[in-house]
Amino acid sequence: MKIKNCKKCNRIFADDNFDLCPICRDVDMEEFRIVKDFLYDHPGADIQTVSQETGIDTKKIIRFLRDGKLEIRDDSPNLLLDCERCGMPISTGRFCKKCVAEMEREFKSVLPANNPSSIKASTKSLGKDSDRMYIAERRKK
Ligand SMILES: [Zn+2]
Ligand SMILES: [Zn+2]
Repeated sequence: MKIKNCKKCNRIFADDNFDLCPICRDVDMEEFRIVKDFLYDHPGADIQTVSQETGIDTKKIIRFLRDGKLEIRDDSPNLLLDCERCGMPISTGRFCKKCVAEMEREFKSVLPANNPSSIKASTKSLGKDSDRMYIAERRKK
């Protein structure tokens, strides 16, 4: 059995392909639920308000959104994120629907059809930096 250290609390746990130990994952789930409930009760709240009221880090909320875990209904005014490609407000993920469609077309034309793993790797590394930039921009205002 392989073991590793939890990225958050450093506890040692059996490696089950997650970065966080089961305890931290539970905390994550709970915080995710709190954010989700808050947005449900307060449609239109911006990310700073959500963070202040729930006590959960904006970075974490953005991560929930970027992961696509926190899905906000299309008709809700909770447009907390910007499309990383064109800057359009979006409710979840990293790109607006239009850009997703455009990028899919582009990827299909430049990449061999059976190589989706390289796309995933490159967009993943992009995500980390742009999240940081996004927060820095918000704080300046
Ligand atoms: Zn942990
Ligand atoms: Zn876009």
